Amino acid sequence: MASSEKKRRTEEENREFNQDWTESFAFICNTDGLPTCLICHEKLAHNKKSNLERHFTTKHTQFASNYPTGNARKKAVEELQKKQLQSSSMLTNWAQSSSNVNLASFAVALEIARRGKPFTDGEY
Ligand SMILES: [Zn+2]
Repeated sequence: MASSEKKRRTEEENREFNQDWTESFAFICNTDGLPTCLICHEKLAHNKKSNLERHFTTKHTQFASNYPTGNARKKAVEELQKKQLQSSSMLTNWAQSSSNVNLASFAVALEIARRGKPFTDGEY
């Protein structure tokens, strides 16, 4: 049984982010080409539909029941994407308004934000 599963090659093997996953599981593709959760900002290591599906159905059951698949889900995901954009422009404003922030530390802060790590994570 296990050996026949190993031989099977499905679409899930082709490690590319599928745009449909944004609407289905609230994931977007980050700059590394890896799926990032719009709800909790967790980054997954593989572009595998099963991983995204498991993350969404185990961690965000409330979101799934609040916004059933279809138009409601689509709108909720769009809202999350807008918030994501707003928070990254807030970071830009914050960096620009701090006079002692140089370009290098701004780039680091931006990179940390992109990777979804908390600001308390290490030195920068
Ligand atoms: Zn999540």
